[in-house]
Amino acid sequence: MSSQARIGKRVEPRDDLRALEGYHSPQVDVAVRLNTNESPFAPPPEFVARYTEQLADVAWHRYPDRGAVRLRAALGAFLGQAPERLLCANGSNEVLQTLLLTYGGAGRRALMFEPTYALHAQIARTTATEIVTGERAADYTIDADGAAELIRETQPSIVFVCSPNNPTGTVEPRETVARLLDAASGVGALLVVDEAYGEFAPWSALELVSDDQPLVVVRTYSKVWSLAAVRLGFAAAPAWVIAELEKVLLPYTLSVPTQVAGTVALEFRREMEQRVASLVEERGRLFAALSNRAGLDVVPSGANFLLVRVAGDAHDLWERLLGRGVLVRDFSSWPRVEGCLRITVGTPAENDVFLAALDAVLPEVVA
Ligand code: PMP
Repeated sequence: MSSQARIGKRVEPRDDLRALEGYHSPQVDVAVRLNTNESPFAPPPEFVARYTEQLADVAWHRYPDRGAVRLRAALGAFLGQAPERLLCANGSNEVLQTLLLTYGGAGRRALMFEPTYALHAQIARTTATEIVTGERAADYTIDADGAAELIRETQPSIVFVCSPNNPTGTVEPRETVARLLDAASGVGALLVVDEAYGEFAPWSALELVSDDQPLVVVRTYSKVWSLAAVRLGFAAAPAWVIAELEKVLLPYTLSVPTQVAGTVALEFRREMEQRVASLVEERGRLFAALSNRAGLDVVPSGANFLLVRVAGDAHDLWERLLGRGVLVRDFSSWPRVEGCLRITVGTPAENDVFLAALDAVLPEVVA
């Protein structure tokens, strides 16, 4: 048979996956990148020195510690949680995937409140989990009563709440999370609070994690720890949940360099807290500056980004900013956030460049 004939015969994926679009966030090489909510600050040089020093001692020919014992002990001490309540994986995306592989799947439902982080629905689809969509209110908060009712009606096995929510920045109050936890518990579902941006918010559901309630809090090293390149995320959950997740996670999935990076990073807590404080301050400055521009409506945010609704062609504004070397995230054609752009808080200098570019192009877009 000729190679031509062999190429001609395609192998088809699962029917329900063929129409999937995959994850789209353009990676363009520009001077100011405010599109993917990373930290604009590199980790301190002392971290890099400590990290590379420790890599010199690695037994490269051996598999890593499957249980990530040192990392989980250090992280547990940092969080005030028992290591048995922690699962580490390659980014919080892999944690979310492991949760859906374990508690979702064919014949089960996942509930999420839109608009929210696209990967919750994307991973539900790839794991053949049926999606139930709850609607957020006009101010993007979750109505606790309505949500509790939806949980009772639809009997999901997993409920996702992203707080602070991506892409809106909305922080759910403690009472809402408590109500949802109650409702989830009532139908035998897990409540997963995605706190990828939790350190920027005034409160965290981490304090509610115990062995007595079906609550999972997911966090990442990609944002406040300035380690997006490493790919490390974790879940804090009851020990009985972690034990099930560990069965599903691939063995040796977390490389030694990843485990070392995650452990060493925790030695630089003060620097992390300083970065968070400076980003929260910059968020306030950007919020005020954007609120003052005619034609822009800014959503209050407890994260390191701001969602802005444009009274004009938002996609056009996105392109014009790009033309000036500033890349933000274009949500203009997304359901429920039509006409919106999301701006990651950068360094003060980057934010100044963004604001100057905005002032130059905004009058061309807003009538
Ligand atoms: N959850 C949310 C809400 C996010 O915005 C992101 C990153 N965009 C993630 C999870 C995934 O982060 P990572 O896989 O880098 O830990």
